[in-house]
Amino acid sequence: MNQLGIFMNFWEKNWAADHAKYIRKVAALGYDILEFQAQPLLEMSDEHIRDLKKLADAEGIRLTYSLGLDPHYDVSSLDEGVRSGGVKYLQNIIRKMAIGGGDLLSGVSYAGWGTPNVVMEDKSAYWNQSVKSMKEIIKTAEDCGVTYCVEAVNRFESCIINTAAEALAYIAEIDSPNIGVLLDTYHMNIEETGIGDAIRLVGAERMKNFHTGENNRTPPGKGHLNWEEIFGALHDIGYTGPIVSEPFVMQGGEVGRDIHVFRDLIADPTEAGIDAEAAALLRFEKNMLQRFACGVSL
Ligand code: MN
Repeated sequence: MNQLGIFMNFWEKNWAADHAKYIRKVAALGYDILEFQAQPLLEMSDEHIRDLKKLADAEGIRLTYSLGLDPHYDVSSLDEGVRSGGVKYLQNIIRKMAIGGGDLLSGVSYAGWGTPNVVMEDKSAYWNQSVKSMKEIIKTAEDCGVTYCVEAVNRFESCIINTAAEALAYIAEIDSPNIGVLLDTYHMNIEETGIGDAIRLVGAERMKNFHTGENNRTPPGKGHLNWEEIFGALHDIGYTGPIVSEPFVMQGGEVGRDIHVFRDLIADPTEAGIDAEAAALLRFEKNMLQRFACGVSL
């Protein structure tokens, strides 16, 4: 069965938090993976990163990373100074990940998170800058044994890669075994004509990570996405990689600001309430995987 994971900021309103606490928590809940923002690694000593890795190994948890790139480090910038600074910044994050055995980086990691507020007839200038940057970044990823996953996100969060087809075109230009695609059900719901078709277009070989979240970023099973279509398509392509849930349900903090959460989206946003939601989410996804693994049709 696929490894199942959850993003730490289901619980936390700020990006950096007590990672050790959440390694223990998600292990106790029965998850295989804890994913969190990679940027806080830059503030951590190498010793602390190694300690977290030891704890994760003892708890049987794989640590994976995501990021929304600070626009000050926008590797698609037309300003060469910003672009080259962004390349160094991402290379440093990859090196920090490798210290703790991290091997999977996802997110808006190919451009600044957000869209340029300019009149633009086409985006090729930004795309080309991003590709130029990624050809440098990917060499560090290759050296460090990190797989770099570009995440197709909705139009309000990037102008570079909005669809599965664009993600595939992008990684074809980079041409490295260390680059792959991440599809996220929340973003696909906005941008794709068909979610199942987008999953099948990418295929198992190039899909290196998969994010689940509802149409409004509540936990899978709570909104109006068609989970039979989604898990059916993952089954169709023989996807065996990670499936990481990424619900954002609380207003406030850096997460509320950056994800645009302006109301609580679950009835009980206390730690105990979210623990219960996380347990139910894991049961829901295991059940979906088992149904398709057993060939149970609708
Ligand atoms: Mn995502």
